[in-house]
Amino acid sequence: MVIIMNDIKILVDKIKENRNITKEQLEELLLIDDEEKIKYLFCSAREVCDKIYGKEIYIRGLIEFTNYCKNDCLYCGIRRSNAWADRYRLTKEQILECCDKGYELGFRTFVLQGGEDMYYTDELICEIVGDIKSRFSDCAITLSIGEKSKKSYQRYFDAGADRYLLRHETADKAHYSKLHPNELLLENRMECLRDLKEIGFQVGCGFMVGSPFQTIDTLYKDICFIKELKPHMVGIGPFIPQHATPFADKKAGSVDRTLRLLSIIRLIEPCVLLPATTALGTMHPQGREMGILAGANVVMPNLSPTAVRKKYELYDNKICTGDEAAECRSCLQNRIENVGYKIVTGRGDFKNV
Ligand code: SAH
Repeated sequence: MVIIMNDIKILVDKIKENRNITKEQLEELLLIDDEEKIKYLFCSAREVCDKIYGKEIYIRGLIEFTNYCKNDCLYCGIRRSNAWADRYRLTKEQILECCDKGYELGFRTFVLQGGEDMYYTDELICEIVGDIKSRFSDCAITLSIGEKSKKSYQRYFDAGADRYLLRHETADKAHYSKLHPNELLLENRMECLRDLKEIGFQVGCGFMVGSPFQTIDTLYKDICFIKELKPHMVGIGPFIPQHATPFADKKAGSVDRTLRLLSIIRLIEPCVLLPATTALGTMHPQGREMGILAGANVVMPNLSPTAVRKKYELYDNKICTGDEAAECRSCLQNRIENVGYKIVTGRGDFKNV
């Protein structure tokens, strides 16, 4: 038994020391079926995170402000050809109301996420960002509104946006083309990420775990891309099929694999901000707590008005769609305290140590 555990210790220590992983090591960690060994991986990653971020978990208030989208990503429930989606847009005033509520609840980061909706011109996005910033100058604003030109990104930054989330979805070209229509290109998405970094945003990339056609090879490329881009955040969560998409009958990604990947990313990029996602919480009642124990340090409860929550249906059975913002906040607080961590009020910026 001791000898067997030695294997995993040597492997994990090597990855931690090198801040790198080979494809063979990745395969080994993803395929191990010994629970004790996997526990060791999770605990090691959590320890790495504790050294940098302590017992503190950062919160972001997620405002899903539009579910109109001009894109047609095959996995996504708000894709343009989903005629069943009940479309909505929030006005600037409604978005500001969400922020008001969020601020009172202790949120100091607001994440504005939506489909690629041309109704929100660059002017309007800048106006919204500017208004939030002037009302809440101690808050960070994260945008997650897809692929734009470098010029547009610069305008958002100049208007006061601090961070940008744009999951790369997969770093393998052939895989990318199986998840997206022809007009969407991996090169373009990667260029967007590089542009965002150059401009000075804190940048987040990421991918779904268990997306259709994903392999250990494509996952290895994801890790290599993360190493190369050096993002401040990495958002990963299980793929969950949505009934009105071409991937309705595909298998969902596994909680266990998501947790292992969270740990691996933490070992390789110790300082990175890693959310325990809503998708993880959807796949398992304690998914987010398990994510934290595997090395995640961010949670993103929903601040969207209850009336629109169900309509932002990227995937089926999304949790918390009936709750008020305050309920989500206190529910998460309890969950996090139950596993020995605490939510902190503050912008929760990336620590570079
Ligand atoms: N339009 C924005 C926001 C997209 S939605 C953008 O392009 O960045 C945010 C993320 O949800 C996506 O990047 C994708 O990784 C994830 N997502 C979409 N559909 C999903 C599904 N069926 N299961 C799990 N995650 C999904």
